[in-house]
Amino acid sequence: MSESKLAGKAALVTGSSSGIGQGIAIRLAKDGADIVINYSGHPEGAQQTQEMIKPFGVRSIIVKADLSKVADCQSLVKAGIDAFGKLDILVNNAGVEKGSDFVDVTEEDYDFVLNVNLKGVFFTTQAFVKGLFDKNMPGRVINISSVHEDMVFPHFASYCASKGGIRMLMRDLAVELGPKNITVNNIAPGAIITPINKSMMEDKAKLDPLLANIPLGRLGTVEDVAALASFLASDEAAYVTGSTYFVDGGLIRNYHEQ
Ligand code: NAP
Repeated sequence: MSESKLAGKAALVTGSSSGIGQGIAIRLAKDGADIVINYSGHPEGAQQTQEMIKPFGVRSIIVKADLSKVADCQSLVKAGIDAFGKLDILVNNAGVEKGSDFVDVTEEDYDFVLNVNLKGVFFTTQAFVKGLFDKNMPGRVINISSVHEDMVFPHFASYCASKGGIRMLMRDLAVELGPKNITVNNIAPGAIITPINKSMMEDKAKLDPLLANIPLGRLGTVEDVAALASFLASDEAAYVTGSTYFVDGGLIRNYHEQ
């Protein structure tokens, strides 16, 4: 299939001002899709994404939205539909984490993580699906979950709860929305080189044991994740729904808590 396999499609990538979301936005643009770039706190990251997309000649807009707020989830989707006339692809990528012993997790910490990682995904997807229903269109939902939708991560209970929630949300929606020709899948990255992992990557005592657990012996790149998103968004994945695909160098099959 040619590099323009997504020509004529419009994609919203949440949290595309950084890391994996930025990589996916660039890849889908390279494949020919128009892109809604979303940020919350870093407009300069969103502008960088737009600059990197420019050479591919697709349309792009930048929309600020705090996805912990339902009204922002809805206005983000509306902005995309207003700009491009429709949205075909939603990549729910925006996510946060906060480490803490379980007994010390505050309601504020819990809400910080769950409101972006689960509530935001829920209501952004709802707004996106309503847009598809309005136009009687098929669509693609791709959630960037984590190996921690399935694998333990002690001291990150809220993160695990959010990603485990996305696993069941994906399975449920794949069944409910399948008859409307809307596919729903998760990508579960392992350890990917992005700002979210900066402190871990700079701490040899944490990095070395992690690398020893990864059968492929390296951290992943955003391009590794974006390649799968590109496939799941494409016509080639028309019969793929209801599953999680791991991009983790084999980590989930070989994890030992230190
Ligand atoms: P990152 O570099 O920290 O980027 C996070 C993105 O989410 C940023 O664009 C950020 O936007 C956005 N975001 C945060 N809070 C938001 C909010 N309230 N509303 C809207 N956007 C918000 O992280 P990353 O490593 O690329 O992670 C992306 C996704 O992959 C997350 O869901 C994460 O859980 C998942 N993941 C990452 C790894 C990994 O190893 N990196 C592994 C497994 C899963 P602003 O900066 O503009 O606020």
